[in-house]
Amino acid sequence: MENKRKVSYFYDAELGDFYYGPTHPMKPHRVRMAHDLIVRYDLYKHLQVYTPVPCPFDDMCSFHSREYLEGLKSVDAPKSGDKRTDKAQQERLRNDFNLGVADCPVFANIFKYCQAYTGASIGAAVQLNYGQADICINWAGGLHHARKGRASGFCYINDIVLAILELLKYHRRVLYLDIDVHHGDGVEEAFYTTDRVMTVSFHKYDGEFFPGTGDLDEVGAGPGRYYAINVPLSDGMDDESYEGLFVPIMDSIMANYQPDAIVLQSGADSLTGDRLGKFNLTIQGHARCHGHMMRYGLPLLVLGGGGYKIVNVARCWTYETAVLTGQAASMRADMPPNEYYELFKPDHSLFIPKDDAMANENSRTRLDQLRTTILENLRHVRPVSGDAAVTPSIPAAAAAAMAKQQQAATRQRWESTPSPSDPSGARGSASGGRWSEDEEGGEGGMDDSGDTSN
Ligand SMILES: [Zn+2]
Repeated sequence: MENKRKVSYFYDAELGDFYYGPTHPMKPHRVRMAHDLIVRYDLYKHLQVYTPVPCPFDDMCSFHSREYLEGLKSVDAPKSGDKRTDKAQQERLRNDFNLGVADCPVFANIFKYCQAYTGASIGAAVQLNYGQADICINWAGGLHHARKGRASGFCYINDIVLAILELLKYHRRVLYLDIDVHHGDGVEEAFYTTDRVMTVSFHKYDGEFFPGTGDLDEVGAGPGRYYAINVPLSDGMDDESYEGLFVPIMDSIMANYQPDAIVLQSGADSLTGDRLGKFNLTIQGHARCHGHMMRYGLPLLVLGGGGYKIVNVARCWTYETAVLTGQAASMRADMPPNEYYELFKPDHSLFIPKDDAMANENSRTRLDQLRTTILENLRHVRPVSGDAAVTPSIPAAAAAAMAKQQQAATRQRWESTPSPSDPSGARGSASGGRWSEDEEGGEGGMDDSGDTSN
């Protein structure tokens, strides 16, 4: 880790201006907050900083359907002026592409937003392909739920799938690792039947929590059988339990699969105190994943993802930038003066304590059982030759099964999710509602956006 590696950092200063809406938990502004801290901690001195090139429409077609992309692009086109035509178009977007629903609202310049974060992830993959960087960071990326022809879970374009496809042009085997609190379903689905990409997702799973997939027995299909790994966890995961699974599982994967490149989706909703997640990881615990994966010395693409208590997201991605640049030891807990200093009250610390009152619902027996089963499955994994072409797809049967599970999860969610205009202020249940946390309260509410984004 001490070895100096060339680290590229992609940042679009306008990304923080995109706005999902006042009640929506996803705040692109958090990336700007992280960036400000990264600068104030002088970490930029250890980074090659790039402004990403927007991803062209045609490049998105390597994964997404043209029809869906045209629908997404049409959101910003001028309206016809005829009420009935416009309403029909809105309905079509909602029914065909899941665009314009509470989770995936349409907002101003949505296609530009997608082009910005996707262009950064693809640009990063290209740099790794050409050996221009050892590690690339794009905190605006990591939108792991987006599907070939459908928006899902706050995600519209799957920059991860597109970046992995780019990496596969120069690498035989790519390892995708997802530490977001939600299952990395969109990426898993895209590579479910190939052994050239191994997907690994650590997440909360109870069959209801969004997106409803990611159980232990989802292992891939066809030539991809055993090349999808899911680590389904319960609420309250703490640093020690997480590391106890992460280290042996990842070490076994590295030994058996021997990937040529690694993509790490670094969703910060697995931190303690998140508005949607219910894990109990500290920032150091979360960042231990980065430190561990760096030790293998492989080309590494690090992306953002979820994270809904935005002060903690900014803290986390700042500290992880320090880990990735070998600067972790020099990070002072007390923050330097910064643009959003007031929001980091009361202690203005870079770190957050674990919640001692929160129970870890993952028993020792359960954790042992997970580790044993996964290590057993990994005995089937080989470092494949990399000759097979990759067409992102999923067999019809597996797709139908996943869709069924997702529908069940989505239905639960809608039943318990109040519409943004609901005057009662009732919130969804903890299990079904993604938005179940208090929207107004404390640091987790609208306050920490600083309301500067729009
Ligand atoms: Zn998430």
